[in-house]
Amino acid sequence: MMEIILAKELGFCFGVRRAIGLAEEALRLKKLVASLGPIIHNPLEVSRLETMGLRVIDNINELKDGESILIRSHGAPFDVIQELKNKGIDIIDATCPLVARAQRMVEFLSSEGYKVIIVGEQGHPEVRGLVSYGKGDTFVVSSLEEVPELSKEKIGIVGQTTFSLERFKEIVSEIVSRSWEIRIFNTLCDASRKRQRAVEELVDKADVIIVIGGKNSANTRRLVDIAKSKGSIVYHIESWDEVLPEWFVGKDKIGITAGASTPDWVIDKVLEKIKELCYQ
Ligand code: SF4
Repeated sequence: MMEIILAKELGFCFGVRRAIGLAEEALRLKKLVASLGPIIHNPLEVSRLETMGLRVIDNINELKDGESILIRSHGAPFDVIQELKNKGIDIIDATCPLVARAQRMVEFLSSEGYKVIIVGEQGHPEVRGLVSYGKGDTFVVSSLEEVPELSKEKIGIVGQTTFSLERFKEIVSEIVSRSWEIRIFNTLCDASRKRQRAVEELVDKADVIIVIGGKNSANTRRLVDIAKSKGSIVYHIESWDEVLPEWFVGKDKIGITAGASTPDWVIDKVLEKIKELCYQ
């Protein structure tokens, strides 16, 4: 009899769940709401919210009269928030509290005269936001090669919440070896790490791994990479429609995991589809 094994940690993290909850609440109150960028990296959930009325915009100049703006869990740059406030626009702030903490750390270090190094991915929306909370002398380092020569200046370090802990430690250690005075804030969130550890455990128990989540979701792709690196047969799907019966031929144990931006309802539909195909 085929067995379906769920990863110990899978699907929405608390920051994403909170953001979706805030969006739904505003839409239920019949507010006109536009989200600054897709609320999460999951096209199915973005479409579901669009059918409820949530509009996605790329720039605050696209806001229509009377619309509230939803700031997603990645947060938004300081100057964007200031402009929205100056214009008196209603802000639904779904910035994850952990991202907001990292923003405060950058602001604090900068105000104390530290040169701030953000260890994170260049161009990531959260990182762009973090940089904006510093006063000029703030920059991003994403690899050992990018660590600059440092003189006797005060260095403050803040991490992108979803950055890999291993790479954070490597980069921080390199910066420490080049610094005179340093202050480090560990702002990494363990939601992604917990999902990564759970998939590592899952590959030992399952014959095949199905990873559910947006193809544009970095944390979902990371789960795929981990399972592949352990030699598993892995299928990355966004939707239940992609599940094929031949994947389960001769397999006894099916492992399921999902990225931090994958909603419960999508996971449930995938499980239904697998049961339909295998238990008929
Ligand atoms: S991954 Fe962590 S920091 Fe990012 S939204 Fe989720 S809980 Fe917040």
